[in-house]
Amino acid sequence: MKKYNFNAGPSILPKEVMEATAAACLEFEGSGLSLMETSHRAKNFQPVVDEAVALFKELLSIPEGYAVIFLGGGASLEFCMVPYNFLEKKAAYLNTGVWATKAQKEAKLFGEVVEVASSADKNFTHIPKNFTIPTDADYFHITSNNTIYGTEILKDYDSPVPMIADMSSDILSRPIDVSKYGMIYGGAQKNLSMAGVTFCIIKEDLLGKVSRPIPTMLDYRTHIKKGSMFNTPPTVPIYCALQNLKWIKKQGGVEAMEKLAIKRAEIVYGEIDRNKLFVGTAEEDSRSRMRRDIATSAASAQAATTP
Ligand SMILES: *Cc1c(COP(=O)(O)O)cnc(C)c1O
Repeated sequence: MKKYNFNAGPSILPKEVMEATAAACLEFEGSGLSLMETSHRAKNFQPVVDEAVALFKELLSIPEGYAVIFLGGGASLEFCMVPYNFLEKKAAYLNTGVWATKAQKEAKLFGEVVEVASSADKNFTHIPKNFTIPTDADYFHITSNNTIYGTEILKDYDSPVPMIADMSSDILSRPIDVSKYGMIYGGAQKNLSMAGVTFCIIKEDLLGKVSRPIPTMLDYRTHIKKGSMFNTPPTVPIYCALQNLKWIKKQGGVEAMEKLAIKRAEIVYGEIDRNKLFVGTAEEDSRSRMRRDIATSAASAQAATTP
């Protein structure tokens, strides 16, 4: 029997997404070859990347001037690629949890980092309010959903400098105003696909402004220019992402995902608040809508292992 999976990531995927991906691993679209042995340069693979990019743009209403690319290395590699490509002198970071702290740590290798606010002193149980973003920063970095602490930024901030968001664990769960961001990135295994691929949405005219040389593989321009095909991309995770993007579209897009997220969160928080067995940790106005951040760790461990 299929067990319930409340893990943050690799997380649950719709059954039909897993079935379509599994079928393609045995034989890719009647080609006589497995997707696993299909070249990324094959004529029948290019449409997979093209369609995934097009659907990403459609579902999130991504405006002109933004590129969508698929990379390896996870969100963790973006922690250093972001400052490598965007930090000339100074960057601003909002510290809302362990991932935000890790992102900030990498940026310090490249320049001055201003922590605009932090909820570390309260064990990251809330999203700080009333902070000022320095107008002379090269960018402002946020982590929209704090996977471990169960807090989420549910609005698109107005930032005086390009805003860069790690949306690993809440991408595609609500409509976002992409025009307010310079870049959005995330590992796929929480909200998009299986592990192995990273998505990046990048406002192209922000690139090429740092003076340092950037190694070819770490330069976003390399991957944008080559359409995610500079080297061999993670083909199976990209295919799986495409299946999930199609599934999301079929459900009614990110508006439908948001309704589902609200409903799911209401059920779970309702029980957390009602049932004395649970203790809610995140402050109410900072609570995440994402499914996995909300049960106590003991309860979620139990749920993940009990059929
Ligand atoms: C899981 C997670 C990461 C790390 O992702 P990897 O793909 O494993 O590097 C980074 N940021 C957030 C918000 C996450 O939830």
